[in-house]
Amino acid sequence: MQKIMVIEDDPVIRDELSLLLENEGYQSVPVFDFTEISRRVQEQQPDLILLDLGLPNRDGSLICADIRRKSSVPVIFVTSRDSAMDEYRALSLGGDDYITKPYNIPVLLARVRAVLRRSAGTPDPDTIEGCGMKVNLTKGTVSAGSKTEELTRNELKILAHLLANEGKIVSRADLIDALWDSQIYIDDNTLSVNMTRLRAKLESLGLSGCIKTRRGMGYQL
Ligand code: CA
Repeated sequence: MQKIMVIEDDPVIRDELSLLLENEGYQSVPVFDFTEISRRVQEQQPDLILLDLGLPNRDGSLICADIRRKSSVPVIFVTSRDSAMDEYRALSLGGDDYITKPYNIPVLLARVRAVLRRSAGTPDPDTIEGCGMKVNLTKGTVSAGSKTEELTRNELKILAHLLANEGKIVSRADLIDALWDSQIYIDDNTLSVNMTRLRAKLESLGLSGCIKTRRGMGYQL
């Protein structure tokens, strides 16, 4: 079932969109907390995002730009703003389509289908990018320029988690949790060993020093 994330702060519209999508046979994932949306997208891996422009914490067009740094998931803006400038800004920051409220339901659903159909042909939907590297989650590889390194399952999980939190300090406990979530048991020593190997691989790609150790706090990409 295709998963569609609904990022909309108006509860009436959010519920209506969710219901419409569920009735069409999609899995709807409504968002209720509008912080760290880019990380939520990484965790949920939706097939499509419906994104409002006017959101409480951060403008939808900026959220789209955040998402684009790590994911090629299609984004349709659903918004009451209808100036050509808003539309231009939203599309130039990585949106795939733009629908104004009040929307026409059959048109909205047709656009959802069209965008999903187009994106089905996009290669490597499971790629995340950042810090000059590209991580392929299905192949388990990291590349920079023309060089590619294969990662173990643990190394892949660690790197994906750091990339999803790029620029932020990620504690060792958080990393261990992220690995534990995926049913891999890992202790503190194993994490250190994996981190050393991961750094060596990144170094061979010319990305030495990109994972910084923040003493007493954790790691930062
Ligand atoms: Ca809104």
